[in-house]
Amino acid sequence: MTGRRAYLDFNASAPLAPQARAAMMAALDVDANASSVHGDGREARRMVEQARRDVALLVGAQPEHVVFTSGATEAASMLLSPQWMMGRAPLRMARLVVCAADHPCFLSGGRFDADMVSMVGVDADGVVDLAALEALLAGHDREQGLMLVAIHAANNETGVIQPVAEISRLAKAHGAVLVVDAVQAAGRIAIDITDGWGDFLILSAHKIGGPKGAGAVVGVSDLMMPAPLVRGGGQEKGHRAGTENIAAIAGFGAAAKLALAGLEEIEAVRAMRDAFEASLLELAPDAVIFGNKAERLANTLFFAIPGVKAETAQIAFDLAGVSLSAGSACSSGKVGPSHVLKAMNVAEGSVGDQGALRVSIGATTTKIELDAFTSALAGMMRRRAARINAA
Ligand code: PLP
Repeated sequence: MTGRRAYLDFNASAPLAPQARAAMMAALDVDANASSVHGDGREARRMVEQARRDVALLVGAQPEHVVFTSGATEAASMLLSPQWMMGRAPLRMARLVVCAADHPCFLSGGRFDADMVSMVGVDADGVVDLAALEALLAGHDREQGLMLVAIHAANNETGVIQPVAEISRLAKAHGAVLVVDAVQAAGRIAIDITDGWGDFLILSAHKIGGPKGAGAVVGVSDLMMPAPLVRGGGQEKGHRAGTENIAAIAGFGAAAKLALAGLEEIEAVRAMRDAFEASLLELAPDAVIFGNKAERLANTLFFAIPGVKAETAQIAFDLAGVSLSAGSACSSGKVGPSHVLKAMNVAEGSVGDQGALRVSIGATTTKIELDAFTSALAGMMRRRAARINAA
């Protein structure tokens, strides 16, 4: 809870964990550059390498296969490149496949020209169309170069979990490279990059209790790597130049450690999310919950209420001291129609057109916050009833 407000927007940014804050404060007290060879420099390096081990552990990777970036968007831009290296030999990715419900950091296509990008859809439950993906993979001419598949593991709006193991099996069978956006999945479902999670993951610190502006590319190996996006010095073994942001990286590492331990509390988070859902359905029995027929993250509830515009409801919640999102609203504070609902073919004229609201919580969410949500929603439902009666 932020002050006396109810903070229900963890998928946009989870609150900074006290352990991450402490690690950042300690790192801010180190004056040196992590590349300096003196004692102070070695202390800075120690902090970066500790964080690398903790981030690697969260996803079952080797620490040497973690490349720190300024966030998941940069990690995506680094990986979504037609130019790669296999050791010293150049390697070309001829086509990129993204999913219609991906985050914009994948949908934008990274460094691929638009005509090199194909898109697979999702079904009404938000799950990727595996048959369409297989057809794209099977139809690709490998003589032209490899195919790169970029798909999210868990959706930031609906929380829907994709069949990553099956996607990984298909990609492997057709010789494609798979990049998985594990930003929302990390700390919410167990991830083992060596077991059906593709070739590369992208991660973001601020979704797991770390600071904004830190993320990582994590590989199952480093035999094959994309051409660097940020060029300059030899930091991050030449994969990402620029002096390391030691405080942000240290905060990310501490958050990763906590996120791994937090997997044990996920059933308590699910029980709390289910309490929000029960409260919603009690006050608005006609509410539509998106993605609830698929496997969903335990912390996410994405819904629409007939006769209630999401933007107006968000303002009403805000005035009542409840922070939640309308749509994903993750760029520039703008609320537009959800591309995820569109991809799920939520019919024109249905509740989805009024926009949807997202409650996303974590292990620190309290009953007081649930009560704040319930009481704000009850007011909204009374106003809706009055409007209907007056009409
Ligand atoms: N991928 C998903 C699924 C996200 O939810 C987000 C953030 O909203 C990102 C990628 C981008 O992460 P970052 O904010 O670190 O660039």
